[in-house]
Amino acid sequence: MTDKLSAVHPATFAAQAGGVIDAETGAIVPPLHLATTYLRDPDNAYSKGFVYGRPDNLTVRQAEAVLTRLEGGAATLLTGSGMTAATTAFLALERPAHIVAPEVMYWGLKLWLSEDAKAHGLDVSFVDASSVDTIAAAIQPGRTKMIWLETPSNPLWSVTDIAAVATLAKQHGVILAVDSTVATPVLCQPLQLGADVVMHAATKYLNGHSDVVAGSLTFARNDAYFERCVRQRKMLGGILGPFEAMLLMRGMRTLHVRVAHQSTAAMAVAKHFAADPRIADVLYPGLPTHPGHAIAARQMQGGFSGMLSVRVKAGEAAAIRTAAHVKIWKRATSLGGVESLIEHRASIEGAGSPCPTDLLRLSVGLEHVGDLIADLEQALGSNA
Ligand SMILES: *Cc1c(COP(=O)(O)O)cnc(C)c1O
Repeated sequence: MTDKLSAVHPATFAAQAGGVIDAETGAIVPPLHLATTYLRDPDNAYSKGFVYGRPDNLTVRQAEAVLTRLEGGAATLLTGSGMTAATTAFLALERPAHIVAPEVMYWGLKLWLSEDAKAHGLDVSFVDASSVDTIAAAIQPGRTKMIWLETPSNPLWSVTDIAAVATLAKQHGVILAVDSTVATPVLCQPLQLGADVVMHAATKYLNGHSDVVAGSLTFARNDAYFERCVRQRKMLGGILGPFEAMLLMRGMRTLHVRVAHQSTAAMAVAKHFAADPRIADVLYPGLPTHPGHAIAARQMQGGFSGMLSVRVKAGEAAAIRTAAHVKIWKRATSLGGVESLIEHRASIEGAGSPCPTDLLRLSVGLEHVGDLIADLEQALGSNA
């Protein structure tokens, strides 16, 4: 990228899209590179470093550089979805491989680990990841190749002490990977706490506008494991498309202001409804009553994310009715976008989910927080 930005805060680097200035035109917005193939030099070499669009692309590389800087890593691989990023990280493990993963984690990925991973020679133990001792007890010396964490984790926003698990992982020579989709690099940088890989569903906060499906893996080192992930992405064709990479870059330029606002607004929503007699519980790591609050306060800076859940005291039917009556919040899955979303999570997770049936998951967007609170108030009132 550019040497001028080598010493600046990651927020500055992201706001300026890594400082890319087009050499030919001086354009201050990075041009979109769509080519799938590149000219060979007369001496038969590829001196510019680009050969074909499946392994690599400059627009993708530029967005990767921004994310690498945001996470303080050595390299990033962007993929066509968060699921592709995560499965690339698992498929790159040396076999036989045992993986320790959280009981409470992103539902789609838990489904893959429970039902699909075995056919790939991957054996998984699900544990209570809020306890470092429980994680330690699940490690099978020599067989366990990876500990997978998600913190705060869907949809209870349980928190894991990343630094403590990193110490454990190092003792056992196990790769520590963290799904940091909800925290974003604005609030937490797992690599700085000792993790080896950080994964994002870039579909969510990194892009932030509910219009791109994308994923990422950022690595602490350019090591053999990183090379195995590069190979997986190349062989399976999991690279992000250049159009999506361009949109993702645009999204990341405003990441810091969006996440700061969303965290402040989510805290206001959490505090407001914590005092509401119609709400049995507000699950938000920013509240001192949340079991993960002390750890979250230590490992997250500047806020506790825009995600929270509320449990409706009158039960499942009342929760679904509340979601039915909102006018501003959108009844939809996903998270991290500009528009606030509300979801009866148990309905989408189905049988076997640890999600309570009276739970509504809230993704706080960028609308005025007074409007969001008033809308939830009137929707809860519809239960009376
Ligand atoms: C959405 C999500 C994923 C999966 O990402 P996709 O882009 O939908 O494949 C993984 N982890 C978390 C925490 C998510 O929210």
